[in-house]
Amino acid sequence: MIVMKFGGTSVEDEEAIDRAARIVLRRLHERPVVVVSALAGVTDSLLAMSRAAASGRIQEALKSLRLLRRRHLAVLDALGKGPSDSVRHDVQTLLDSVQDMLRGVAALGELTPRTTDHILCAGELLSSRIVSAAVAQHGIDAALVDSRECIVTDANHTNAVPFFEWSDERLRQRLQPLLLAGRVPVMGGFLAATIDGIPTTLGRGGSDFSATIVGAALDAKRIEIWTDVEGMMTTDPRLCPHARRIDVIGFDEASELAYFGAKVLHPATLIPAIRKNIPVYVLSSRQPESKGTCIRARAPRSRTTFRAIAAKAGMKVVNVKSMRTLGANGFLRAVFEAFERHGCAADLVSTSEVSVSIVLNSSHPLDGLLGDLAKLGEVEVEEHKAIICLVGKDISGRAGIAASVFETIAAANINVHMISQGASEINIGFVIEEDDVPEAVRQLHQRFFEMKPSSRAARLPAGELGMQAFSQRISARTEVG
Ligand code: ADP
Ligand code: ASP
Ligand code: MG
Repeated sequence: MIVMKFGGTSVEDEEAIDRAARIVLRRLHERPVVVVSALAGVTDSLLAMSRAAASGRIQEALKSLRLLRRRHLAVLDALGKGPSDSVRHDVQTLLDSVQDMLRGVAALGELTPRTTDHILCAGELLSSRIVSAAVAQHGIDAALVDSRECIVTDANHTNAVPFFEWSDERLRQRLQPLLLAGRVPVMGGFLAATIDGIPTTLGRGGSDFSATIVGAALDAKRIEIWTDVEGMMTTDPRLCPHARRIDVIGFDEASELAYFGAKVLHPATLIPAIRKNIPVYVLSSRQPESKGTCIRARAPRSRTTFRAIAAKAGMKVVNVKSMRTLGANGFLRAVFEAFERHGCAADLVSTSEVSVSIVLNSSHPLDGLLGDLAKLGEVEVEEHKAIICLVGKDISGRAGIAASVFETIAAANINVHMISQGASEINIGFVIEEDDVPEAVRQLHQRFFEMKPSSRAARLPAGELGMQAFSQRISARTEVG
């Protein structure tokens, strides 16, 4: 069997949904399970209306909900006679329940992460209902499956972590009989539930993760991520028009890219695929015949120094300067313990004997953490930062590469706040101002992907400007919490 996941833009309207259904039709002989995202923009819109309701703007929230209702019903209308009255009824009922929840949020003036998940789930419940009807119109025996009954997570609402063993068991029990009966299960990505059946979501962009959770549970031959770009590219094509499709990439490199901001994959997507060694393909639903990118355990050497560049904006740098009362080791331990206590994950870490700089996502509330850190030393927070990460398996042990990265950045007059070479030795990451991201990515892409090898060699700095020159400032990437 295979898993086919269609992202938001691949099911954004009736035309896209019909295209997706035809793609499924062509793979029928491979026994697909279909995983779908909400229609493009729906999760953002559900989130915005929840926040509006919580801050007393219920009329604004209800107006947005009316637009959302109209959009989903219009898609059903455009799909023609096929979808029965029961589909229309289900869509209306789901949207009615969102309306009730929004009124509840407005009455309480409070939006908890648990309620957020209840509301966000509606996006994928709606899309899976509609896509299963569209798939059935092509004569496919589609079976709508509720992901909340199959994927079990912890109760960390809006960013829940799956329990693989329970999920594997439930997914097998629910999906295998359908596949054996020749049916095509269609399920919403992104949503799941706790062991008590309370709805959860897997973090923004989480449908990719759902697809690999399903694929690993059923030992899929392959997992396909159908999206709006040709495949995984050498950088985000929205930042750099010269970005090129990568043919084959290793799990390790693709994981680093996803973690450091390549939005085409949710950061955790590859974990289940690696566990079962299942290849993941990134494919374009607009050009279904194109080759896409294959992500697998082993990939041929890259012809370029790096495989790709990722950028992650919306970061904060927390600097803590030690009071020298704990000693260097005690100080670092206490800092990381504070991060763990507050459930904060550090993306990059750089240390010296007397200070530590930690980069983390700025959406995380920091009040409690900063209070604890203030007991350990002087704390300073820098906002609006971004991480740029260059990933390549072949950089390890090669002199001069880091120097040419920073020479390029310096030539663009961009200030670097912090540097880190990944502990995995396959990436070089550094922190810059958020506003500098487009220019930095374009310049680095030009330097490492668009220059001919001869002109590249001419720009390599002398040996003494190699990795060693940066080693004092470079430290391992660590994950906390
Ligand atoms: P979907 O709705 O299909 O899940 P996403 O918007 O989540 O799609 O992801 C696709 C987008 O990821 C692309 O439109 C592109 O702008 C962005 N992206 C960022 N980095 C990369 C990369 N290295 N390769 C391809 N796309 C990337
Ligand atoms: N609909 C969800 C989101 O927008 C999940 C996804 O698209 O993967 O984040
Ligand atoms: Mg996505």
